[in-house]
Parts: sequence; structure tokens; C-alpha cells
Amino acid sequence: MTQHKPSTRLIHTRGSRLEPSSVNPPIERASTVLFPDPGTLYTHKPGYGRMGLTVHRELEAALATLEHAEHVRLTMNGLAACALAIGSVLDVGDHALIQDSLYGPTRRFCERRLKAMGITVTRFPTRIDASTLMALVQPNTKALVLESPGSLTFDLPDTQMMVGIAAERGLVTIADNTWGAGLYHKPLDLGVDISVQALTKYAVGHADAFGGAVMTRRQDLASRIVACSEDWGIALGPEEAYAALRGLRTLDARLTRHQANGLALAEWLATRPEVARVIHPARPDHPDHALWKRDFTGACGLFGAVLNPVPEDRLNDMLSAVKLFGLGFSWGGYESLIIPCDAQLNRTFTPEPQLEGPLLRIHAGLEAIEDLQADLAQAFARLT
Ligand SMILES: *Cc1c(COP(=O)(O)O)cnc(C)c1O
Repeated sequence: MTQHKPSTRLIHTRGSRLEPSSVNPPIERASTVLFPDPGTLYTHKPGYGRMGLTVHRELEAALATLEHAEHVRLTMNGLAACALAIGSVLDVGDHALIQDSLYGPTRRFCERRLKAMGITVTRFPTRIDASTLMALVQPNTKALVLESPGSLTFDLPDTQMMVGIAAERGLVTIADNTWGAGLYHKPLDLGVDISVQALTKYAVGHADAFGGAVMTRRQDLASRIVACSEDWGIALGPEEAYAALRGLRTLDARLTRHQANGLALAEWLATRPEVARVIHPARPDHPDHALWKRDFTGACGLFGAVLNPVPEDRLNDMLSAVKLFGLGFSWGGYESLIIPCDAQLNRTFTPEPQLEGPLLRIHAGLEAIEDLQADLAQAFARLT
């Protein structure tokens, strides 16, 4: 089946069927699994609902297909997937290098939880060169955590350069691949050891469930991830696993529209006098556009826009005037969203180039592009 295109493979992940069966797997609501005899009680896997049942196995198979992974571990949300991946590869006394523009709660996990576990952490700026990064590697450095593009500022790390340094210095590389959704970016193909996704975003795709996944090709890392996941009791509920699996079937079709709407909105915003700069990696004016072209095959619907300086009450008037764009966290659903994000930047390194005014994060949903543009246009009238 490997000759098929990704959209086809995501739909046909089930093997051939010997018995008549439904298109989709059953949702087994189970803690207890019953066995026919004492002999199978301790030998049959899965032996308990927490290990996942049919729908989980099918979701794992679909994600392995999507990310070119061999081992997939499911978690109850994206943050738990990041924490599991990072927590599995580090022990007391170790040191980790983390990208400054990591998803905020992941950074907090590293700087609060890892520190409490006796693991030290150093942030590095996303746009770092090889020798500067090399100088940050300590004898006890074990992991390098990256996210492409980084949250809120959409700056891209040079993943290939980092993978090279990690290989040379024996570091495990972990990449948060939520933005590329597995379809437009394949970290494992670039030599990254562990890819992580918040399935909550585009896999689920309808803002109605949480999920996360940790994916790798390395058996040694997979064993550590499984052990850590078992010890922490990490698991995904069957309804949520079903929602993520169902979403994956239409991921390609939805992302095509998210991408087109996102690019069209970015193009329109770039012409507006209220906007200082659009931050969209697929646009040639993005500082890391060359890296995006090298490492990605597409863009999702999430990007940034920097406004020209404007008083806060004007900004709030504008945000109160949007009707189609929701004001809310998360993204990846069918609906458009907009949030001001300066309050959650919390960076060690000043974003480059410096932000001219307020930073907005926009998620282009699946609505008609004309309606989205008209909505922003009427709201932007409140800025002046
Ligand atoms: C949303 C998000 C997460 C966390 O996912 P949840 O399911 O909300 O916990 C992790 N990483 C990135 C890049 C995200 O955008």
C-alpha cells in the first residue's frame, strides 16, 4: 500500500476483512475485559481497558501511517503527550535543551516539573546557529526539544542542523508536530527521534475532544515511553480515540481548505494598513520561508499577524466586533478563531524581528473566505 498517496492511506488503514463488519471500529466502553479461562488471564494483551482496545489499535495504525512511525503511544491530550515524550527520556541529573518558542504549557512542564525531578533545563532561541547550539550542550545533556514552527511566533528551528548535532552528541530529539499535523511535516523522516502531536487540534478537527500521541521508530525509546506511560497511568478514553480516528480519515481534505483559507486571509491582511506584518511560514516574506520549503509540504490554517501600535481599548473593541471568529484557545477545529497573544509569550529571547505592535494569532476555519474577510474588515474599522 505504500505506493498510495497519504490521503488514500489514511482512509485505508484496516486490513482485509474475513468477516462482514462495519466501516468503523466499535467503541468498547470497558475497564474490565473478560477472559474465557484462567490460562489467558495473564497472557492476553490487552488485558485491561487502560491498555486500549480495538479503536485504539486502529488509531495507532493510522498515526503510524501518517507519521511514518513504528511505535505509537496514545495520551489523553497533547500536553500529556509532550510531557510523556520528554519525561521518558530523562532521568535525575540529566539536562535538556528546549526551544524558547515551545508551546507554553510544555515549557512550563520542563521548567517546573522536570526541575522538581532533578533535571536541569536550558532554553535556546529558535533561530540559533550550529556553533551556538553546540556550546550549550553539556556532558549531561540528553534531550533536545523542538517545535516547528514555534507556538505564537511561528519561527522555524533548523531541524536538520539540530538532528545532526544531536546525532553527534548522543541527544534524543523530540519534535512537537501539531502544526504540521503529520500530513505536512514528517519529523521522523528528517531524523528526529520522537514526534509528538496534540490530536486535539487537526486530528479530532471539530473542537470536541482531546487526544495526544507520541511516535517513534526507535524500539529502545518506545520501551521507555511505554514504561513511563504505564507508571504514570496515561491512557486515552475510547470515545476520544474514536473521535481522533474519525477525524484522521478527512484530515487531508480539511487541511487543504484550512491551508487555502489561511493563505488567503494572510494575503489580505498583508495589504491592510492596520497590519504591520503577517507571520505565515508559507509566505516568501517569512524569515524562515526557506526552511519551511525544505521541511514542509504544506501549511495548516494557523498563523500570526502583528498590528501597528494601537491603544488596548481599540484592540479590545476590534476583538469584540468580530462575529465569525471566535475568541478562544486551542485551534484545529472547523471554526475560525482569533486571540491576542502578547500576554502568553513569556519568552527569554526577544522575538526577531521585534514585534511592532500587538500580536494576534488567527486560525482560519472552513468557512467561506469572503465571509471571513468581510468579518475582519468590519471589525478592523474599530481600530482607527
Ligand atoms: C494545543 C497544543 C498542545 C497541547 O494539546 P492539548 O490537547 O490542548 O493538551 C501541545 N502542543 C502544541 C503545539 C499545541 O498547539
